[in-house]
Amino acid sequence: MASLSTQSVTDVHHWNESLFSFKTTRDRSLRFESGHFVMLGMEVEGRPLMRAYSIVSPNYEQELEFLSIKVPDGALTSRLQNIQVGDEIFVSSKPTGTLVVDHLLEGRNLYLISTGTGLAPFISIIQDPQVYDRFDKVVLSHGVRYASELAYQQLITRQLPANEFFGDEVNEKLIYYPTVTREPYKHEGRLTDLMASGKLFTDNGLPMADPAHDRFMICGSPAMLRDTCDILGGWGFEESRQGIKAHYVIERAFVD
Ligand SMILES: Cc1cc2nc3c(=O)[nH]c(=O)nc-3n(C[C@H](O)[C@H](O)[C@H](O)COP(=O)(O)OP(=O)(O)OC[C@H]3O[C@@H](n4cnc5c(N)ncnc54)[C@H](O)[C@@H]3O)c2cc1C
Repeated sequence: MASLSTQSVTDVHHWNESLFSFKTTRDRSLRFESGHFVMLGMEVEGRPLMRAYSIVSPNYEQELEFLSIKVPDGALTSRLQNIQVGDEIFVSSKPTGTLVVDHLLEGRNLYLISTGTGLAPFISIIQDPQVYDRFDKVVLSHGVRYASELAYQQLITRQLPANEFFGDEVNEKLIYYPTVTREPYKHEGRLTDLMASGKLFTDNGLPMADPAHDRFMICGSPAMLRDTCDILGGWGFEESRQGIKAHYVIERAFVD
């Protein structure tokens, strides 16, 4: 396992009964790309208990931020959900991952397709000014069961458009498309269905996805990734592997 540093929790926010986020201090030597994940954990029975976590914060922030599920009997999250400001957690020193814009071919529109905590790496990516330099439109879609799981709405719809450095690009290019499956909401249904039917594109005034122009980054459950890859494959999109640039990249939001 990569070497671990000990960081202090500086902030904790509970979104609802199943989701929370927290901030920690950041080792000055830690470097990462938007979309990367680290191993994160706590000491349990005298040993570090580590799990993979996408980094929510942009790479220029002084602190690290993470978004976490609360699995009631989960080895780590049954404990992690009780952390308080000042507590210590372990963070691995080698961030990694496939969900990076540099693995994509040049393109016009970037679709960030997430379900549940799969949103986490995309919150980092939409705070990366280079993403707005590279793409005409950045469509952030987040599929959840209940509207209370739509974390970071305030940041996406209020704070980023007012950002003093790249707020203008956000206003012009970022499209936020949340969708809910188990209660009434402005947009309803599974993201994979909304893609397959074309509604994801028409609702946002964009043409159907085309490998010539469009790029996708996908983060969700193993089942969601399978379905999304099938849809994209059927449309002629190719997945980036081993860092070779292609039309889309994927990362699992968790392992079944
Ligand atoms: C590359 C990668 C990045 C990840 N990033 C994050 C992240 O940013 N935030 C996060 O909360 N988790 C993330 N995970 C999942 C995380 O590593 C742990 O599984 C999670 O923290 C639960 O840990 P646990 O020990 O409590 O339960 P585990 O024993 O790890 O999981 C128990 C079960 O809970 C379910 N589960 C686990 N994680 C999730 C989840 N995120 N959403 C829905 N169901 C889940 C699965 O069915 C799993 O089998 C990521 C996983 C991978 C592989």
